[in-house]
Amino acid sequence: MKILLIEDEPKVGRFVQKGLAEVSYSVVWVRTGAAARDALCETAFDALILDLGLPDEDGLNLLADWRRSGFNEPVIILSARDAVHDRIKGLNLGADDYLPKPFSFEELLARVRSLMRRQSDRKLTAFEYGNIKMDLLSRTVLVDEQPVELTNREFALLEHFMQNTGRVLTRTQIAEKIWEAHFDMETNLIDVYVRRLRKKLGMFDDKESVIKTIRGVGYKLA
Ligand code: CA
Repeated sequence: MKILLIEDEPKVGRFVQKGLAEVSYSVVWVRTGAAARDALCETAFDALILDLGLPDEDGLNLLADWRRSGFNEPVIILSARDAVHDRIKGLNLGADDYLPKPFSFEELLARVRSLMRRQSDRKLTAFEYGNIKMDLLSRTVLVDEQPVELTNREFALLEHFMQNTGRVLTRTQIAEKIWEAHFDMETNLIDVYVRRLRKKLGMFDDKESVIKTIRGVGYKLA
């Protein structure tokens, strides 16, 4: 997941960049509006974190321009301006969320993740990872271009991995997502399903599998 962080305060920028990098996001950090414009024109991002008080221009201008020119990356505004009318203005201009400074990193992370979930629910209907291709609309999975038959649960499990590439999914998270189990289910069952899924994808042991076992925690597609 690639995030553009637009923040001129070195302390805040470093803090956010480091925190996001630690949870495997790749972060491009720019300090001015001009640099942000360049970065966004150059490449697509999964989300933008936007400070409003920038040295060369108002973050709200940037946001308005982006939306006008059709950039639809989700945007979280991060700002010391906490007045209700500022928030409303930001949201009206097309921001997806607004987090007043000072903020806790955990809260920022939770909001980034929820934004990305919403984004992927909205947009992504096809995934590709290594030799695996998955199409949610036609409900097909290809490995090395060969179709693979998956049960509904296996399909949902693979989709969950695909939507969370590089992120460790705990057994509890998987249970909640795939089995909608809000109780302490047999986590053994998850291991059985993961093994079955791996086998169907043509991966027979943990080493060669892209679905890695994270000992004592869960699994990760990486
Ligand atoms: Ca600032």
